[in-house]
Amino acid sequence: MKPRIALIAHDKKKDDIVTLAAEYVDFLRGCNLMATGTTGGRLANELGLTIERKHSGPFGGDLQIGAELVMGHIDAVIFLRDPMTPQPHEPDINALVRACDVHNVACATNVATAHLVLSQLRQAVRK
Ligand code: PGA
Repeated sequence: MKPRIALIAHDKKKDDIVTLAAEYVDFLRGCNLMATGTTGGRLANELGLTIERKHSGPFGGDLQIGAELVMGHIDAVIFLRDPMTPQPHEPDINALVRACDVHNVACATNVATAHLVLSQLRQAVRK
């Protein structure tokens, strides 16, 4: 079964998620991808990835992804948060990360961890 991966990045982390996804683009093409609106738009436009785009994060996209996760539809979340900038939808962000913990779904909140998660998933698919 294809890995189901959700991708989210706050504004100052969007370049980072595009760079990260570019490194795994062949693997990601074989995954079912979901993203918040703006992040998904950049990944689709700049890397040609096919992505199910939810609302933008501040308009409920994190919550939509959280709901998918709770229903068992997501295997891993790459969520590049900006720890230096207050976010208007902080409660939604916390809800998504909490849902990952409640349901034991891998959640990478920085680039270093994202590499570990993506390389591990890629390895698992190759076996
Ligand atoms: P965005 O949402 O991808 O639509 O910018 C991300 C966020 O801010 O949570």
